[in-house]
Amino acid sequence: MNYDIVVVGGGIVGCALGWGLAQLNTEKKLRLALVEKNQAKGSYGGAQFDPRVVALNQHSIDFFKRLSIWPSIEAARVCQYKKMHVWDGEGTGAISFDARETHAPFLGAIVENSVVNNCLVSELNQSAHVDCLWQNQVETVNRLDEGFELVLLSGEIIRTKVILAADGGNSPIRAQLGFQTREWDYHQAAIITTVESELSHQFTAWQRFSHVGPLAFLPLSDSGSSQHSSIVWSLDNEQAEKLMRLDDAAFCWALERTFERRLGGIEAAAERYVIPLKQLHAKHYVQVGAALVGDAAHRIHPLAGQGVNLGLSDVEILLGEFARAIERDIPLRHFSILKRYQRQRMPHNLSAMAAMEGFKRLFGHNNLASLALRNAGLSTVDGIPPLKRELIKVAQGYI
Ligand SMILES: Cc1cc2nc3c(=O)[nH]c(=O)nc-3n(C[C@H](O)[C@H](O)[C@H](O)COP(=O)(O)OP(=O)(O)OC[C@H]3O[C@@H](n4cnc5c(N)ncnc54)[C@H](O)[C@@H]3O)c2cc1C
Repeated sequence: MNYDIVVVGGGIVGCALGWGLAQLNTEKKLRLALVEKNQAKGSYGGAQFDPRVVALNQHSIDFFKRLSIWPSIEAARVCQYKKMHVWDGEGTGAISFDARETHAPFLGAIVENSVVNNCLVSELNQSAHVDCLWQNQVETVNRLDEGFELVLLSGEIIRTKVILAADGGNSPIRAQLGFQTREWDYHQAAIITTVESELSHQFTAWQRFSHVGPLAFLPLSDSGSSQHSSIVWSLDNEQAEKLMRLDDAAFCWALERTFERRLGGIEAAAERYVIPLKQLHAKHYVQVGAALVGDAAHRIHPLAGQGVNLGLSDVEILLGEFARAIERDIPLRHFSILKRYQRQRMPHNLSAMAAMEGFKRLFGHNNLASLALRNAGLSTVDGIPPLKRELIKVAQGYI
């Protein structure tokens, strides 16, 4: 089978890209395919929440609205958060953001990964404009004069003029095509799980910083309930291992103490998962006929809650470049198209990663200078409304 574009990877970023391309292809001029090695993600309901969630900013929500996918995500399950409270667990610094400060109804939405994925997969399955090869896998990529030959796990061989790698942080396609990367291993891991608290989360995203690592409580809601949160607890590997070995009651107690009982007692925790934390950035996102998208191009520390948001912005820009090329009758393999994508996205992604690295380092030390800077910095910014409004716009993805 010969294609114009093959997307490898059907995570949130790959599926959004596949769905966006399908929408550009209403005249069926392009032959499109998406290859994903896994099955559809599981479904969760009631008080059972997917342990993997993302905080989508306003910019990503607006993009999903333009892709006509947001109504089905919203109908499935989302929790809009109206406030964000960030504080230094080892000092006095604190800062709060409220959507009302920018006259917005909310700051962003916490969404389960499986909800976003399942909505995109169900649209893709109904689309006649893209072939979806689920539970298949690209094993080998061979370069041809005018494209690539992909050998799939099923034994099938497909050819494509353009390959878009959205195959995640460990991207096998990135490695096979020889893209170079810069990587930082934090020797840290994130424990993720869903917890039930004694008090309401108040539709607020909470983040406590300490030199050990950030602890985030992201609000979840089913039919208006407000006592479930998804936690992301970043710690050194050994500490994470220790906490993983605790039984549920001891884990809830450790969590409750570290979180300073802001939501009262932690009454229950679902199954815990541990995810290694690495930051990675590809030195180039594009080669002739090939591009890296989402985590395949950049993997950022989760303290920012920005990974998917950055990946969706990549998708938005790439779709815009393909739309422009189609309008001007430029072949999609033309290097100028992919270079324009890289030129627009790389500086933005790099600055987001640098900001997170700075934050991580500032909180990674517990010396007096760092502590004083943190105390003064957070509280000073908290007292300057115009500066806070600008920061809210950054968090919403508008800057
Ligand atoms: C603890 C934690 C919390 C986070 N919280 C947030 C948050 O609040 N907000 C936010 O924006 N981001 C957050 N992130 C980051 C976010 O989860 C990632 O940025 C995002 O999931 C990356 O999506 P992706 O589609 O690029 O990659 P992935 O989700 O990794 O998807 C890659 C897909 O490619 C498939 N694949 C791989 N190889 C092949 C192959 N050879 N052939 C076919 N398919 C293949 C895989 O099966 C997978 O489905 C968080 C990350 C972590 C670890």
